[in-house]
Amino acid sequence: MTQMAESQTSHALVDGPRSAGELRWQVRELVEEWRADGRYRPRPDAWLRSFDLDFSKALAGRGLIGMTWPKSFGGGECTAVDRFVVTEELLRAGAPVAAHWIGDRQIGPSILRHGNPRLQEEILPRITSGELVFCLGMSEPTAGSDLAAVKTSARKVQGGWRVSGRKTWTSNAHKASHAYLLARTSVEGRKHRGLSEFIVDMQEPGVTVSPIVDMSGEHHFNEFTLEDVFVPDHYLIGECGNGWSQVVEQLSFERGGPERVLTTYPLLASALAALAGSEDRGLHRELGMLVARLATLRRLGMEIARSLDEGMPSIARAATLKLLGNAFETDVIDFARKVVGDPEGERLYRESLLASPGFSIRGGASDVLLSIIAKQVASA
Ligand SMILES: Cc1cc2nc3c(=O)[nH]c(=O)nc-3n(C[C@H](O)[C@H](O)[C@H](O)COP(=O)(O)OP(=O)(O)OC[C@H]3O[C@@H](n4cnc5c(N)ncnc54)[C@H](O)[C@@H]3O)c2cc1C
Repeated sequence: MTQMAESQTSHALVDGPRSAGELRWQVRELVEEWRADGRYRPRPDAWLRSFDLDFSKALAGRGLIGMTWPKSFGGGECTAVDRFVVTEELLRAGAPVAAHWIGDRQIGPSILRHGNPRLQEEILPRITSGELVFCLGMSEPTAGSDLAAVKTSARKVQGGWRVSGRKTWTSNAHKASHAYLLARTSVEGRKHRGLSEFIVDMQEPGVTVSPIVDMSGEHHFNEFTLEDVFVPDHYLIGECGNGWSQVVEQLSFERGGPERVLTTYPLLASALAALAGSEDRGLHRELGMLVARLATLRRLGMEIARSLDEGMPSIARAATLKLLGNAFETDVIDFARKVVGDPEGERLYRESLLASPGFSIRGGASDVLLSIIAKQVASA
């Protein structure tokens, strides 16, 4: 069976367009079924830490991966607002979505916008069918906030490129089939020039992945090295040397979604249940403030999704959502500390707390986001 035919079969559960309400209930039914069967338990930070390829395939079978992409690639041609609804429900449920998250959120859209037809045909249907797992090879030991300082180099050879370098903090690289890679293709001129984007097959000789265990004792971070790894010509995304402007655009996909607000939502839900029946007016007031902030952040997230539907860039708004959303996620933990008491609530609290130092660093540190927002205001 061809890749395309496979992806069409896997979408057999999708018949015709669905309203936002239908999509929401479809996700709720699926997560409830999995939770009731004990196949997952809700986790905070699920989009990074809760990985289950079978769950991703179950979503793929319902047409819930690559929802906005063309049908010819196994997509659903839905709106970004529809996708927002689906991702919001998955995050609220703390569902195991990490396997497809990066491919669905940013690498697929990037390939769709900039990739050559051969790359699109080879990769996109395998993301929508839940087959491929992507990790993000951006950060390096000396390139984080200053991403343009990337040193990993790609050298042109017959039929492709030879890539060498070292990437770090790469979440789920040890489970990924493919990596997105930002590499230097030229050392001439300003450092923002001469960067290019590639896809790397993690099975290629020369790729080595080493674990980095975080302070919670979990292994999702990795360092991965590339030693003269061959990358075929069609795995270059977009134009050679145009990597900087492409990656900036990609970062707005990375920053503008509900995962920058709802990482600790399962804990908030647990705190809400624990507070029911309590007469403590102070705690109720605090909860009210959190809910009001959540409503505002949701609205901003929806506006970003609408802008995506209109093809408008949302770089500063995405940075704003991430900055305010990360503060909200952390304040939920402070609130829950005063409220939760049962073992399940305490587990969610512990997992949220240990994951929280990363919220405002990953995907762009808060100070860097403030700079982006300030520059936008200055130029308006
Ligand atoms: C949980 C988690 C998951 C991650 N997953 C991935 C991944 O999958 N792939 C990947 O490539 N990377 C990943 N990262 C790395 C992440 O993108 C970087 O940590 C981040 O970009 C910051 O880079 P850095 O750690 O080198 O810190 P630095 O760049 O050294 O920054 C340290 C601090 O200095 C300050 N600072 C730096 N520059 C400026 C500036 N210009 N203006 C004002 N203040 C500044 C900020 O306060 C910042 O927090 C992950 C990180 C975390 C925490």
